[in-house]
Amino acid sequence: MTRLLIVGPQGSGKGTQGVRIADAFGVPAISTGDVFRAAVADGSDLGSQVKAIIEAGDLVSDELTSAVVRDRLSQADAAGGFLLDGYPRNLTQVMHLEEFLEGRGEELDAVIELSVPRDESIARLTLRAQEQGRTDDTEAVIANRLAIYERETAPILGVYGARGIVVQIDGVGSLDEITARIVAALDARGVKRTAAA
Ligand code: AMP
Repeated sequence: MTRLLIVGPQGSGKGTQGVRIADAFGVPAISTGDVFRAAVADGSDLGSQVKAIIEAGDLVSDELTSAVVRDRLSQADAAGGFLLDGYPRNLTQVMHLEEFLEGRGEELDAVIELSVPRDESIARLTLRAQEQGRTDDTEAVIANRLAIYERETAPILGVYGARGIVVQIDGVGSLDEITARIVAALDARGVKRTAAA
């Protein structure tokens, strides 16, 4: 069983690295941002509830987000572990996740903290806005999302740091170099690969 979180500011590359690390460790990568964007694209009920919030770069409510995550973690492919990207995003969500995992007798193995300087994050997000045309990658929305990260998300690292499970990774370098750094750090901590289902 491998249970991982990947945490980092927008533009740190956590989405890309999350997928690579999940593949390497044999678990599904679960990104709440992807779940919400897919719901918006499908025009589902969930999508209509979250569309305006995502476009403003604000956070979806903790209750709704945690319900979505509990539902996703209860699916069969997450039985052998998971990598969560973009959740938990604040201390309330940390509490929700803890309650859920405790109820199943589970705990996290490691929290990957991907660090990149603010200027580098902004440069990458601006480039992504041009390439992918994401509606939440405009300059004002980027600034809002980074401010929320610093105010609400960064403090969750204190909680996991006190538990000794944070693995700090320098997020500047080529994609392959960064993946190799994360894999080496997780291996050094003895994080196990989940056998392919
Ligand atoms: P991301 O791709 O992780 O940056 O997420 C895109 C957007 O989805 C965020 O700006 C939020 O509006 C929403 N979102 C994703 N994850 C969460 C979360 N854990 N809590 C609240 N809102 C979230």
